[in-house]
Amino acid sequence: MKLIVPISGGKDSQATLLYCIEKYGVENLIAVFCDTKWEHEITYKHLDYLVKKTGIEYHILSSETFDGFLDLCKRKKRFPSSQVGFCTTELKIIPMIDFVLSLEDNVIIFQGIRKDESRKRSQMTEQCRYFKFYFEPYLSNEMIVSQFNENPPTTHKQKLKLQKAVDRLAKGKNDEKFHTYRKKDIIEWCSKYADDIQRPFIDATADEVIYYSLNRQFEINKLYFMGTTRVGCFPCKNATHPEMKIIIEKFPETLEKLKSGEKYVGSTFFAPDYIPKRYHTGFDPKSQKTICKIEDVVRYISDKNVQLSMLNELEMDRGCQSVYAICE
Ligand code: SF4
Repeated sequence: MKLIVPISGGKDSQATLLYCIEKYGVENLIAVFCDTKWEHEITYKHLDYLVKKTGIEYHILSSETFDGFLDLCKRKKRFPSSQVGFCTTELKIIPMIDFVLSLEDNVIIFQGIRKDESRKRSQMTEQCRYFKFYFEPYLSNEMIVSQFNENPPTTHKQKLKLQKAVDRLAKGKNDEKFHTYRKKDIIEWCSKYADDIQRPFIDATADEVIYYSLNRQFEINKLYFMGTTRVGCFPCKNATHPEMKIIIEKFPETLEKLKSGEKYVGSTFFAPDYIPKRYHTGFDPKSQKTICKIEDVVRYISDKNVQLSMLNELEMDRGCQSVYAICE
């Protein structure tokens, strides 16, 4: 039996790692990190600190096809977007699946997922199977209709999606979708081994996981003290305006990384609808539409975010730069 803890350098996976060490003993655990080569240097340093201090067996997993995030985007000729999320699949999911299959043993994977992180995660359970969606659908027309029954569609796009699902169901088509990567290997692997998932902090709050580490004399990633709320690719394709505001104000080297990344890939990091069109200075001859370069995003956010500046001043007054008020 292999007990695996995927770590990201963030607070949730760190608390999960410490919990597992206390419960099972460090000698019985393996920590893994999926390296996108697009993380902040602070995160890489924090991972080193965590691995050295715990003494855990540690594996860094990376894509065998792509040399990290920028190489992936260069070869796809675009950056990922909230609609087209190939980065997670290529740089995290595939390396992790390959690793699990290579173990040829029963596994329990301990995930640092919490329900209050997002609506999607709020539906997750404390126990699950790692290869669940090879055996049951992750999406079907019935599921789409049921989701929209709970939260009625608000945008034109959502209404079209619902109508399409209803029309397909009327024709007797449920269009079930399953995961497919290495499907044959996985089905064979699962006939011999168990693929359990446990999420010990599923019902915990952000504060609880932070103090789980602090109370055990483990530092948390310093990025949290600089105003960030999550750790991972820096920035993530899903970075919000407040997250970009923090990058603009506190991480000039990351802005430079984004500018040179856009040149290297030959595309813009953010989709055109990330900021209003009047701020766009780029033009895509293929689509004949304007696009927003990173400089445009900086200009828009700097013009717009007076409120965020005020928030930062309030935080400064409180003496803590973290949204979690960790210093207090
Ligand atoms: S953290 Fe964001 S950018 Fe990185 S792999 Fe995940 S979705 Fe993609």
